[in-house]
Amino acid sequence: MGSVNALAKSDFPLLRRSVNGQRLCYLDSAATTPMPQAIGEKLQTFYAQSYSSVHRSVNSLGLETTNAYEHARSKVAKFINADPAEVIFTSGATASLNLVAESWGRENIHQGDEIVLAVSEHHSNFLPWQQLAQAVGAKLRLIKLNDQEELDLIQAKSLFNEKTKLLALAQVSNVLGSENPVAELISMAHQVGAICVIDGAQAIPHERIDVRQMDCDFYAFSGHKMLGPTGIGVLYGKKALLEQMPPAHFGGGMINYLDHGQATWEAVPEKFEAGTPNTVGAIGLGYAIDYLNKIGFKNIEQHNQELMNYLLPKLAANPGVKIYGQGQKLGVVSFNLAGIHPHDAATLFDQFGVEVRAGHHCALPLMQELGIPASIRASFYIYNDQADCDRLLEAIKQTQEFFNESC
Ligand code: PMP
Repeated sequence: MGSVNALAKSDFPLLRRSVNGQRLCYLDSAATTPMPQAIGEKLQTFYAQSYSSVHRSVNSLGLETTNAYEHARSKVAKFINADPAEVIFTSGATASLNLVAESWGRENIHQGDEIVLAVSEHHSNFLPWQQLAQAVGAKLRLIKLNDQEELDLIQAKSLFNEKTKLLALAQVSNVLGSENPVAELISMAHQVGAICVIDGAQAIPHERIDVRQMDCDFYAFSGHKMLGPTGIGVLYGKKALLEQMPPAHFGGGMINYLDHGQATWEAVPEKFEAGTPNTVGAIGLGYAIDYLNKIGFKNIEQHNQELMNYLLPKLAANPGVKIYGQGQKLGVVSFNLAGIHPHDAATLFDQFGVEVRAGHHCALPLMQELGIPASIRASFYIYNDQADCDRLLEAIKQTQEFFNESC
């Protein structure tokens, strides 16, 4: 097998820096991806030349900003195969998921109703539903893991019934890295008349998303995990659903009419974007989409496959390594080292310049299901190469030697 090269490394100035005297080996992309230099530069130009208020001004700068913001919305819509009216800009996946819970959930989920979600959900797609269920007297029903530490479709089937109102599901787990059986679960949910909220935060950097083909009712993601800025995210919703939903937040830019006694709302998506939005974030997300389209998802998928094919057998061959989840990995690998606390391991990795994450990864119900307090998570993206895998493998070896000797 030939060596696995990065798809794009030189575009990312952050990756040229060193940490603790070592060249940075960045393996924390599932948390946040660095930004290509060209995107930062374009945003600088926007700040310097056009930055102004959006949707509220008839002056030239205001119009330029509004056009750039709406152009970004059109790019997002095309990127996920939606209509621009179905794309709501939010501050991130968390805000998108909470919006559905606060708006659709509050209107449609009542006492005795049931919400199905996976035990592996990130807290952002767990807590909004847990809190809603507690507030209205609904019940959460959890899809558990099978022997392969993947979602158990057989058990899942038994959870759906006429009381099920909503399925909340990550497309890709931020801990296991596996692609969940989204099509099968959406079909189960739709068969009983439930709507489907898909958390795409970990999927969208890795694969082409087509929300129509997926037939999800809502889809949420964040800009900062797909080479864009922080503080920007998207909620896609089917237009017919969005039109029926009440706004969750109130303020400027979202009313059609207002007097002392009443208010009527703007059409979607403005109805859901109260206050001055994150214009620069949305424009930056548009640039990130341009960048990803240029690289091409076929190349991104193939590169991930090659990296995982190189790394996983070597990791699995180490008897002191326990990998979580037996399925395919979309850039995310979680594991533990026998007898070594994940935080100790990650701290030592950092001394070697290898930046991973250790902890519960905002997925405590999954940690409880796996029977562990925490894990080490290494996550990869287009700028990683075989040398990064080797650095991780070497950091693991050195850490095992260090702790074995010091016992
Ligand atoms: N869902 C998943 C699967 C995630 O990995 C994350 C980020 N760790 C989120 C939701 C929340 O994203 P954000 O913090 O950008 O809102």
